[in-house]
Amino acid sequence: MPPENTGHSVLPTSLCGYSAMLIHEMTEDECRAELGRTDFGRLACVRDGDPYIVPVNFSYDGQYLYGITTLGQKVEWMRNNPLVCLEIDARPDPDHWMSVLVFGRYEEIPDTPASQPLRAHALEVLQKRTAWWEPACVPNGENGRRPPIFYRIEIEQMSGRRGMPSAI
Ligand SMILES: Cc1cc2nc3c(=O)[nH]c(=O)nc-3n(C[C@H](O)[C@H](O)[C@H](O)COP(=O)(O)OP(=O)(O)OC[C@H]3O[C@@H](n4cnc5c(N)ncnc54)[C@H](O)[C@@H]3O)c2cc1C
Repeated sequence: MPPENTGHSVLPTSLCGYSAMLIHEMTEDECRAELGRTDFGRLACVRDGDPYIVPVNFSYDGQYLYGITTLGQKVEWMRNNPLVCLEIDARPDPDHWMSVLVFGRYEEIPDTPASQPLRAHALEVLQKRTAWWEPACVPNGENGRRPPIFYRIEIEQMSGRRGMPSAI
């Protein structure tokens, strides 16, 4: 697990001797704002000590990250071990970047009567984003179209860092 987010500590580093970069520890609110601004990240899971990471779309409702997928390796692995890490990042230019890591727990939203309100909420949250269904639901050659699996990630811990040139 990462060290506790201390808020605004600033770490100067030197970049190959050319310029100094400030690395700003983002607050939880800043991390949450970035999660709300994007719809794409890398979802990592682990089974028996082996790592696996895939690009996914998601939507954030201010509390959970919601996604849609189909049965495959990552779902099998996350069912086996629901502890996941999701990463987002942005680098608008070579001198500015940010990344947020979410440590959380994978939770499926089954197609059962009891879960219909939650599935409806997931769908509503997901529909705010574009084309979320396309990569998740394209048929693959061997299996044909597979039923969608709705899931969410309960956020247990977050850390974020933002890099920018030093004024020095
Ligand atoms: C921009 C983008 C957005 C996406 N959004 C979603 C989404 O919201 N939901 C979703 O379910 N999927 C999404 N995908 C596809 C996703 O990355 C996986 O390819 C897909 O979910 C299948 O994963 P799986 O573990 O079920 O793989 P399986 O179909 O079980 O495949 C098993 C093997 O295929 C290989 N493999 C699987 N996926 C990839 C990959 N992306 N790149 C290279 N090799 C791979 C690995 O070697 C893996 O061991 C997105 C992909 C991209 C590029």
